[in-house]
Amino acid sequence: MEAARPSASCTVGAVSSCFESDGMTQYIFVTGGVVSSLGKGLTCGAVGALLESHGLTVVIQKFDPYINVDPGTMSPYQHGEVYVTADGAETDLDLGHYERFTHAKLTKHCNITTGKVYDAVIRRERRGDYLGSTVQVIPHITDEIKDGVKRLATSDVDVVITEIGGTVGDIESLPFLEALRQFGHENGRENCLYIHLTLLPYLRASGELKTKPTQHSVGRLREIGIIPDVLVCRTEKPMPEGMREKISLFCNVPAKAVLEEKDVDFTIYEVPLILRAQGLDRIILDRFGIETPGSNMDEWIAMIEKMKSPTGDVEIAVVGKYVELMDSYKSIYESLTHAGTANSARVRFRRIQAEDLSDGDLDAALSGVDGVLVPGGFGERGLLGKIRTAGYAREKGLPYFGICYGMHAAVIEFARNVLGHEDASSTEVGDTSHPVITLLDEQMNVTDMGGTMRLGAYPCTLVDGSRVREAYGVEQVDERHRHRYEFNNDYRSAFEEAGMTLSGLSPSGKLVEIVELRDHPWFVAVQFHPEYQSRPIKPHPLFRDFVAAAKAHKKKSDGN
Ligand code: GLN
Repeated sequence: MEAARPSASCTVGAVSSCFESDGMTQYIFVTGGVVSSLGKGLTCGAVGALLESHGLTVVIQKFDPYINVDPGTMSPYQHGEVYVTADGAETDLDLGHYERFTHAKLTKHCNITTGKVYDAVIRRERRGDYLGSTVQVIPHITDEIKDGVKRLATSDVDVVITEIGGTVGDIESLPFLEALRQFGHENGRENCLYIHLTLLPYLRASGELKTKPTQHSVGRLREIGIIPDVLVCRTEKPMPEGMREKISLFCNVPAKAVLEEKDVDFTIYEVPLILRAQGLDRIILDRFGIETPGSNMDEWIAMIEKMKSPTGDVEIAVVGKYVELMDSYKSIYESLTHAGTANSARVRFRRIQAEDLSDGDLDAALSGVDGVLVPGGFGERGLLGKIRTAGYAREKGLPYFGICYGMHAAVIEFARNVLGHEDASSTEVGDTSHPVITLLDEQMNVTDMGGTMRLGAYPCTLVDGSRVREAYGVEQVDERHRHRYEFNNDYRSAFEEAGMTLSGLSPSGKLVEIVELRDHPWFVAVQFHPEYQSRPIKPHPLFRDFVAAAKAHKKKSDGN
């Protein structure tokens, strides 16, 4: 397999720190209280965006207190999407927020779980590296956690932002919080800033916001020895007069550092502006003694303005296995939204359970949609529905965007209905006499589930004259992968001759990375996950062109 990933200079599990902070890096720690799902990830991304607007370089990481080594083996129902970094780590979806809000270069060191921390410490213990000492949570586990923060403090990074998953008060968060307390003690409080995200619940019956849970949550944090510098209060209503001062007094945080983060009406990308309006960037810069010429968010503001003023809308069907949860395909929905902005269109989603289309009425399910996207997935459930969807789009001239398993579905459909191989399939779901999607030799003997797929960024060469070559506007791109199965090269010429072009190949020509239909308005299916690289101010070219094709399809249908 051709690797093209950036080499990491040190790995989790190294005995001693192989990094040296230059002493100039500052640290922001973000904790959460009261309930989970407050949007800590978004807030970290927003803080990163604010600091970047001052010309600083940031990197963002997340500590997840669960015991899985990474979320790669977890169900999307439990965990939402698995986000893949360029260096091939399977990580928490919050890293997607970090990358969409900032230019931070995220690596496998940016998502550390309890499982990873213990794995490193236990491996070291087995090697005998602790020289007879008793291995304990303090200092060994907490040291490993602190090393995980310091590892990011390279000379080109001004600020490391570290999010702690979960909620203060959880048993499993304790070693992480203890490590952060120690970190401030050892590195100087002037170099560390603690942000606590909390909830002000609104009681409908009495019509008021309550501060008590915030007081308790900050109390828990203080018991551990962390006094937050900033409180970000999530709320559905504006804070009434005097509430800021009340929270300030009870929680020992200056009133100007008690910020309101009200639910956004329109887009999450407004959060940096909301925090900037309350002076969060100033608070951070003052703490760290950093002077900057000022903040420039013009491009960001222009993007939001454009997002808010579409001239039309398109409806995209997303046909997948986990459509009930927005988080399962988070980056896909975000990428479609970015692409909508680029096309001055609001993108509406019709989320369709693939399983329902195994024998359901495709006309009814897809009527009126302007494009179909079939995302990645695993296993048999829903595959037939995805295959039928691809066939429907192919025959009706409906724009189709297949991603990973969505490419497999398109390839299987083409083999069955155009090449006439009735039982064509992927070897992922059983035996077939036409394995158009199959395992490459490297994957044949893999038995472990965790971290064993083809993961991370690989180069892809685009074939001249293809639709994708035109979309990207360059000859070679890097895209991130997460799969085991590949297009079977034995079928290449049959597909090409029958009208499915192999328009993206690995540089050696050995792997098929993109297929597209020649005689179709827009039918592109990719082996990789382009959704990991779309940004609100830099939409991914394939998503952009897919939505443009959906817009054109709508115009044509409206004209009929
Ligand atoms: N299940 C397929 C494979 O492993 C596709 C994976 C995906 O869609 N991410 O190859």
